[in-house]
Amino acid sequence: MDESQLYSVDEAVARILTGVRRLPAEQVTLLNALGRALAEDVLAPVSLPPFANSSMDGYAVRAADIAAASQEAPARLKVVMDIPAGTAPDRPIKAGQAARIMTGAPMPEGADAVVPVEQTDQSWRGSGSDPMSDQVAIVSPVRSGDYVRQVGDDMAAGQVVLQAGTIVRAQELGVLAGIGCGQVNVVRQPRVAIVSTGDELVDVDDPLTPGKIRDVNSYTLHGLVLAYGGIPIRIPTARDTLEDVRRRFDEALAHQPDLIVSSAGVSVGAYDVVRAVLDELGKIDFWRVNLRPGKPLAYGNLRGVPFFGLPGNPVSAMVTYDVFVRPVLLRLTGRPDALPTVQAVMGESLLSDGRRSYLRVKMTNENGTFIAHTTGTQSSSALLSMVQADGLLIIPEGITEVTAGQSFAVRLLHTIE
Ligand code: AMP
Ligand code: MG
Repeated sequence: MDESQLYSVDEAVARILTGVRRLPAEQVTLLNALGRALAEDVLAPVSLPPFANSSMDGYAVRAADIAAASQEAPARLKVVMDIPAGTAPDRPIKAGQAARIMTGAPMPEGADAVVPVEQTDQSWRGSGSDPMSDQVAIVSPVRSGDYVRQVGDDMAAGQVVLQAGTIVRAQELGVLAGIGCGQVNVVRQPRVAIVSTGDELVDVDDPLTPGKIRDVNSYTLHGLVLAYGGIPIRIPTARDTLEDVRRRFDEALAHQPDLIVSSAGVSVGAYDVVRAVLDELGKIDFWRVNLRPGKPLAYGNLRGVPFFGLPGNPVSAMVTYDVFVRPVLLRLTGRPDALPTVQAVMGESLLSDGRRSYLRVKMTNENGTFIAHTTGTQSSSALLSMVQADGLLIIPEGITEVTAGQSFAVRLLHTIE
């Protein structure tokens, strides 16, 4: 690949993804699985519930015994035992008998339904002083199976309950806890070293002296790495000298990252020494990719570690991350893309320059149709435009004129109604 050639976005992404494989699994304790991608399908080793149990506080009965029960003529059953949750009944229920049972307690043998306590006559009490020899008056019938949670109602032993690639949320923790999975195989998180380059950059707490600006990209990239399941490793900014750039890339490599992402210094500006160092340390291609904002893109490896050199302008860095780095992180982590692409109708006319363009747009939902308007300035250094945007509207290659009413794909930047 050489610099004179111009690649389409799709060609560039396809080339980048060649050879990118999902990272291996690692075992973590249950709570540490939160937010991680499952490395393999999870099978239920047991059925849930593991035993038939009551879904109400009430009386376990034989439904046939109380088929004729009514307010006027309650069915009277002998209460032969108490079954609190967490105990196992020690005898069966015979005809004419019932067991007082609590929610979640196992059904006794012989009983096939539960009568909720609300359907019994509480005012009526047996005469015996021993509560175990009590009787219960039941004022309405139940069907066999009523208020009983059967074995396997929730999941059957051997069933795939969670699929590989699923991101573990609170509800997945629930399933894993329920089936007794205290150690979970999740995909190892990629370690991503982030290097900002540029003599003009000072860090967020440093005084802003004349000619300087604050480093933005290492912060936005940190957030984007985390958002796609990676572990960000922020390296201090490299000055525009051969020695400092070399030092910072060596520092990045020392962290044994799975990926290195740098920003700025890969254009052909006079002070861009990054290119020279990249050529020393690895094999890097400088691609002219047919997109806006964002060019050129450096991609290759530094001492064998995959490397991206993103443009310096903050919006360009975020957009090119979304277009090129995000697919790599998704592939490495085995994750699905959380934010979908939707169709939207352009609400204004504008000119494009024939490159594939990612416009920052705000969207409104009008009777189920998304209408997109640009956030105003599309300058690739305008930080607020990314905050205001609901998504990136993609104008395909070759289009130079957009008229209001045309429909385009929009990559969402957050969930939207
Ligand atoms: P360059 O690619 O080095 O020519 O940088 C392009 C533009 O992006 C310049 O205006 C830089 O000052 C700006 N820039 C580069 N790196 C950063 C950064 N980390 N944070 C904010 N702006 C940056
Ligand atoms: Mg620079």
